[in-house]
Amino acid sequence: MDSALINIYDLEFEELKNEILKLGEPAFRAKQVWKWIYQGTTRFDDMTDLPKAFRERLKGVFYIGGAGIVNKFVSQKDGTRKYLLALYDGKVVECVLMKYHYGNSVCISTQVGCRMGCRFCASSQPGFDRNLSTGEMIAQVMAIRNDTEEKISHIVLMGIGEPFDNYDNVVRFLRRMNSQNTLNISYRKMTVSTCGLVPGIIKFSEEGFPVNLSVSLHAPNDEIRMKIMPIAKRYSIDNILSACNIYTQKTGRRVTFEYTLIKDVNDRNEHAEELARKLSGLLCHINLIPVNSVEGTGYTKSERVESFRRIIEKYGIPVTVRRELGSDIAASCGQLRKRSVERDRMVD
Ligand code: SAH
Repeated sequence: MDSALINIYDLEFEELKNEILKLGEPAFRAKQVWKWIYQGTTRFDDMTDLPKAFRERLKGVFYIGGAGIVNKFVSQKDGTRKYLLALYDGKVVECVLMKYHYGNSVCISTQVGCRMGCRFCASSQPGFDRNLSTGEMIAQVMAIRNDTEEKISHIVLMGIGEPFDNYDNVVRFLRRMNSQNTLNISYRKMTVSTCGLVPGIIKFSEEGFPVNLSVSLHAPNDEIRMKIMPIAKRYSIDNILSACNIYTQKTGRRVTFEYTLIKDVNDRNEHAEELARKLSGLLCHINLIPVNSVEGTGYTKSERVESFRRIIEKYGIPVTVRRELGSDIAASCGQLRKRSVERDRMVD
C-alpha cells in the first residue's frame, strides 16, 4: 500500500468535500462518493455514477478501508465469526461478529496491542504497538458487513486495546457510525468498555452520547485488583465508582461492571458480598464472566459462578452470567490475539 494515500474512512464529510474540490470536481461528487463507501463499495471502479477520469484521480489520493481480511474463523457452535485483518502497515487486528436474538453485534479493536497489562488478558501479552485511526475502526465494521452481507445493529468496543487510551479516534468513530449518512446506528446500541481510566469516563460523560459504558472491574477491592490489573495502582475503585456515578447522572444509562471470576483470586462468597455492598445504590448491572483460559497466565475458571451470582442477587443488583460465544475459535474475551489461534481450523 502506498503510504502517501489517505484512508478515505479517516475523513469527515467536510474534509472529503475539500479534497474533492481540490481535485477540481464539484462538491456534489463528495456526496456520491460518501454514499458509495458507506454502502460498502471498496473499489472506485464500482462507483458507476462518477466520470471515469475522476475515479482514476480518486485512486491517486485515497484507498478505501485499510483493513483487509487475511483469516476468518467461524465457530461451529454458535456462528460467531472472528476475523484477522491486515492494516496498511502489515499490523494485524481482530474483530468479531456475534449473532444474538436481537441482532448482529460487532466487536471492534481500538489499538494494535494494549498497554494496560491486565494479567489475565491475552491482548496485553505481546505489548502495545499503536493506536488505530478512526478509519481503521470503521474499516473493521465495513469488512464484517461486506463479508456477511448482514445488517450490523450493535457495536461493542471490546476487542483489542483500551478505547479511552485512544479517546479522540474512538469518539470520532462512534459519532460517524451514528450518523444518518453512514450506518445510522443508535448510540444506545453501542458499548464502550474500559479498564477504568477515570479521566476518560468523566470526559466521555460530557460528550452527551447515550452510549452504554462497561467497566472491567474484576475485583471487590483495590488490593485484589492491583494483583490482576496494573491500572488499579493509578485509579482506585472509589475513584472509578465516582466517575461512573457522574456517567449515569449525565447520560441516564446504567453502567455494566464486568467481573471475571478467577479461581482462588476473586471468587469467594465474601468477595461477592464486598462487591455488592460497594455497588449498591449505583445504577448498574454486573456481568459475571467465567475467566477464559489464556496460555501463560496461570489463571483458571472458577466453579463458583452460581453462588457468586446468588449473593449479588440477594442485594438486589441485576446480575447476569455472560454466555460464552466462539470459545472454539478463541474469540472469547481476552483470547483475541492468542497465538494458538493459528492452530485453529481456518474457514475459506
Ligand atoms: N480495555 C477494555 C476493552 C477490552 S474489553 C477493557 O478492559 O474493558 C475485553 C473484556 O474482556 C474486558 O472486560 C476484559 O477485562 C475481559 N477479559 C480479558 N481477558 C479475559 C479472560 N481471559 N477471560 C474473561 N474475560 C477477559
